[in-house]
Amino acid sequence: MIKDLFTNLCIIMTFTYVINYIMTHPRFVPRSALILHWTAGISGGLLGILLMLYAVQINDTMIIDLRTVPLELIALFFGPMPALISGVLIGLGRVLLYDLNLASIAGGINAVLVALVCGWISTTGLKPYTKLIWMTLYTQVQTSAVIYWVMGGAHRYFWLELMPTLTIASCFGVFVFYHFYYHLRSSNEALRGLRSIVSRDFLTGTGNARHFDTQINAMHQRAREEEQSLSLLSVDIDYFKRVNDTYGHAAGDAVLKQLVTLLESHARPGDTVSRNGGEEFSLLLANLDAAAATDVAQRIRVDVAGHEFLIPDASPITLTVSIGVASYPEHAQGLDDLIKYADLALYRAKQQGRNRVCH
Ligand code: GH3
Ligand code: MG
Ligand code: MG
Repeated sequence: MIKDLFTNLCIIMTFTYVINYIMTHPRFVPRSALILHWTAGISGGLLGILLMLYAVQINDTMIIDLRTVPLELIALFFGPMPALISGVLIGLGRVLLYDLNLASIAGGINAVLVALVCGWISTTGLKPYTKLIWMTLYTQVQTSAVIYWVMGGAHRYFWLELMPTLTIASCFGVFVFYHFYYHLRSSNEALRGLRSIVSRDFLTGTGNARHFDTQINAMHQRAREEEQSLSLLSVDIDYFKRVNDTYGHAAGDAVLKQLVTLLESHARPGDTVSRNGGEEFSLLLANLDAAAATDVAQRIRVDVAGHEFLIPDASPITLTVSIGVASYPEHAQGLDDLIKYADLALYRAKQQGRNRVCH
């Protein structure tokens, strides 16, 4: 019995881990609620069927299975629609995989009903753990009632052996499944949060130098593989120190944030904006050659020059930027050379009087 129970726990944990891995993998993060619901629903259904196939042999006369465990957890974590999909699959599995008789039909209907009620409980405003307690309670009462009915009345065996064993095993399964999946989910969320923190600039919320590094490597590789262009704009605010000196550091910070919004408005999906340091920013423009990138840079320059930056406790101010443009493969082949080329172009723009674009 212990061996069978252990096998069931291993099935639950392995299955949950694999499904969680697939659903959170960057190549398959479900793109819509519908795909997420079906993936979760089918996974719960398959797990329930697997648990039926690996039923626990308690003693010579008693076999129990944990098929209702995934129903409760799918309802709790994903809602009524995935729970119903799991319930119908488990119900069909119960009817199709075993002899067609009263017990299998009752077992099948039981799974669908449990899914419906747990799905409904999941929509209430209760705390997750309270929901789980109600789901488990309901599931045990209903399942016991169905077994009682199929057995044709109360026997000593039912009250003293089957029902307590099934209840304890199911509660144990729910408890393990809940904590295992909850832990997996919180670890994933923490990891996602950390990834975002290490790649975001604290002040402006745009990408930081680390993000720039990751992105330029990936975009350069893609450009090489797909024989496309890639352009880099290095943007530096002209005489920014004066803003700080005249209006204070807070005003400088406000300007940096507004400039990011403006730069981001010129980026297309697939482009990357980042703050590489103090008042220096860069834009990575995917599949754009030198001529087109220079046009974008000129538009940004004109846009910034005409923009009124709001600063605390003073009238709006205007400022300008200088931009260096470098394009792969026209100006440089390698990554380091591309960055160097953009820096030199920016340096020339400063040398030539600022508020200009050089390449
Ligand atoms: P140039 O036209 O040659 O680029 O002149 P500049 O004054 O913009 O350049 P410089 O490198 O002399 O000064 C950059 C200034 O940016 C100095 C620093 O105080 C300011 N700065 C850097 N990081 C921040 C920040 O996070 N917030 C604020 N408010 N200012 C910053
Ligand atoms: Mg500057
Ligand atoms: Mg600078």
